[in-house]
Amino acid sequence: LLEVRGLVKHFPARRGAFGGATGWVRAVDGVSFDVRPGEVLGLVGESGCGKTTTGRCVLRLVEPSGGTIRFEGEDITRLPRRRLRPLRRRMQIVFQDPYSSLNPRLSVGSMLAEPLAIHGIARGARARERVAELLTMVGLSPDHARRYPHEFSGGQRQRLGVARALAVEPRLIVADEPVSALDVSIRAQILNLLLDLQRRLGLAYLFVAHDLAVVEHVSDRVAVMYLGRIVELADAASLYEAPRHPYTVALLSAVPVPDPERPRARLVLEGDVPSPLRPPEGCRFHPRCPLARERCRREEPELAEVAPGHVTACHFADEVAGLRGPSPARA
Ligand code: SF4
Repeated sequence: LLEVRGLVKHFPARRGAFGGATGWVRAVDGVSFDVRPGEVLGLVGESGCGKTTTGRCVLRLVEPSGGTIRFEGEDITRLPRRRLRPLRRRMQIVFQDPYSSLNPRLSVGSMLAEPLAIHGIARGARARERVAELLTMVGLSPDHARRYPHEFSGGQRQRLGVARALAVEPRLIVADEPVSALDVSIRAQILNLLLDLQRRLGLAYLFVAHDLAVVEHVSDRVAVMYLGRIVELADAASLYEAPRHPYTVALLSAVPVPDPERPRARLVLEGDVPSPLRPPEGCRFHPRCPLARERCRREEPELAEVAPGHVTACHFADEVAGLRGPSPARA
């Protein structure tokens, strides 16, 4: 469904009164992955790793600096805006913040009917029917069409965000941290709603999140990003049971285990994430990696297959098992 190859996004870093570029922030620096029809690909990493920028580049909400994006076989990387519009119908986004992603001046009915009119799907009575259908689909009532966004709770607003994305019957949804702004008590409801809709409608999600427990709950496969690059990609079961990159091991070791009988070794990373203005030479993770040695400082590792469908970018992937404790989120 979606094929991303060598995606790059560099932002100019500006300083001083005249705003000239003083360098380039390498937010996304050569990222490749596929999303298959009807699958959920989790994209996970610490804040600033480039996962959100990747999701937005895929939809051309942010223009990529390089690489290619193919959707349903068509190269959309440099497609003019006018020709992107019909594609927008099949690729939608659910934003992190349900408060600011809805227009406060539009009633829910008008907000949901707007994309139906823009894409020539329905108007008038048929549009009102479709709005009622969408509201029911996301667990709200058709009567809510008359209300305005400020009359809803956070969880209900995110349901509206989902309804708006679904209005045009997309095949792919980029879900950009869709539950991280919500109360813990309602996160599970929204996640279950997203999963239920995905199964019922055969949707594919690129699910962007920093919370590994959330990503595990929803994903078929998971890609881990560090400093603008994917460092590991595998199906969710093997990534969580047997991670093969030291960074993934460290991220997983920070996930709480709900079983005091099964304590887990904690791998605490030293230092901060380096600046994406000047990523380290060689392996970008080497200043924080407990397995780092001379080769890591010189040579950047490529993604290589370590098991069927499981790729990792580490020169010493065979030694990573020694860093792991008992299995975390699945324990
Ligand atoms: Fe660590 Fe070296 Fe592997 Fe990078 S290549 S993750 S520094 S062991």
